[in-house]
Amino acid sequence: MKLSRRVTDTPPYLFHLIDEKRKKVQQRGVDVISLAVGDPDRPTPDFILKIADEEIRDPRNHVYPSYKGEPDFCEAVARWFSKRFGTVLDPKKEIMAVIGAKDAVSHLPFVFLDPGDSGLVTDPGYPVYEAAIGFAGGKVVRIPLLEKNGFLPDLDAVDPTQADDASIMYVNYPNNPTSAVADESFFQRLVAFAKKHDVVILADNAYSEVYFDERDRPISIMKVDGAKEIAIEIHSFSKTFNMTGWRIGFVTGGEKLIDAFLTFKSNIDSGVFMAVQRTAARALEHPDVEQFVRERADLFRRRRDAIASALTGMGFRFQLPRAGYYFWVHVPEGYSSSVEFCADLLEKQGLTLTPGVGYGPSGEDFFRISMTAPDDRIAQAMERLGAFVKERK
Ligand code: PLP
Repeated sequence: MKLSRRVTDTPPYLFHLIDEKRKKVQQRGVDVISLAVGDPDRPTPDFILKIADEEIRDPRNHVYPSYKGEPDFCEAVARWFSKRFGTVLDPKKEIMAVIGAKDAVSHLPFVFLDPGDSGLVTDPGYPVYEAAIGFAGGKVVRIPLLEKNGFLPDLDAVDPTQADDASIMYVNYPNNPTSAVADESFFQRLVAFAKKHDVVILADNAYSEVYFDERDRPISIMKVDGAKEIAIEIHSFSKTFNMTGWRIGFVTGGEKLIDAFLTFKSNIDSGVFMAVQRTAARALEHPDVEQFVRERADLFRRRRDAIASALTGMGFRFQLPRAGYYFWVHVPEGYSSSVEFCADLLEKQGLTLTPGVGYGPSGEDFFRISMTAPDDRIAQAMERLGAFVKERK
């Protein structure tokens, strides 16, 4: 059997490898704590389950959905989007349902990039960006995200020839793994850059609703004049409503871009289960949403502050996360790589964190901690990390 180069040239998915290592340590009887993945530890809220129960029993929802997304789903998204971001979208033309943000992230290169073209990715970044460009036959060009620039790409430092050669560029704010957020002036510069070099921006906004303070509330690139002509923004219900397993999200952008994606997607899958679309649509406008979002923000602020205080006490260096689920922390002195640090920690303390290099070469000096575990497990994890640090001194 011959495997395609598409598969053989793609490294195994980072989280799969971490999971394999964790299982080996668990087999020795160790109670491993994982703060490695960004999967909410809380269940989907009850008000959403009640809606889902109604929708799943409606036989009209059991047939093939429309490829673009049901009109009522797109209309609910448009109303929510206008209220949340102050941007008006045409539900018929500028919104499309997707099977989670990963569906859009992994398939969009096929729409805008021909084999041999290049795609810009921010480094560190969500690993699927690079894999997706590779699957579509493109070349990956990495733009480093540096701490001194607030983990935003320095657009003036991008080689103009590389920018001209690129067909797409991924950006992701709130950012995984650095938890940086972008403001409107950055998105304005990004749209100008995209127009100058004719690069389609794929703005992954999967974490738009996970923030801790009103002043850090993430914005949408769609707010910028002209963005719809050159950018697609990707949204997810996964992180917003603890719905990672339900597989639903949406993309927004100008009619030409959405139409092109629809041409591709209608040949790939058959849309999102209608009961899930309708549940998500009704969830967005449910009276319990505000309370849910407030409580979730309180929970994560508490966790963030507890982890920050523990890490500071242990002497780790990091920026306080403003949005998203993650701490992006410098690997302490004495380790030659982030993988070595994380492997040693797992081995000695049964704690799984993610090595920064898994998000790109610029992540080598960092490791990532996810806040998506119950409070008592996070407290235990911090104790183990403390013991690990002490033992090395
Ligand atoms: N984009 C980023 C930056 C992510 O971190 C993730 C999941 O961790 C996704 C997209 C995927 O989200 P979804 O569950 O909607 O596919």
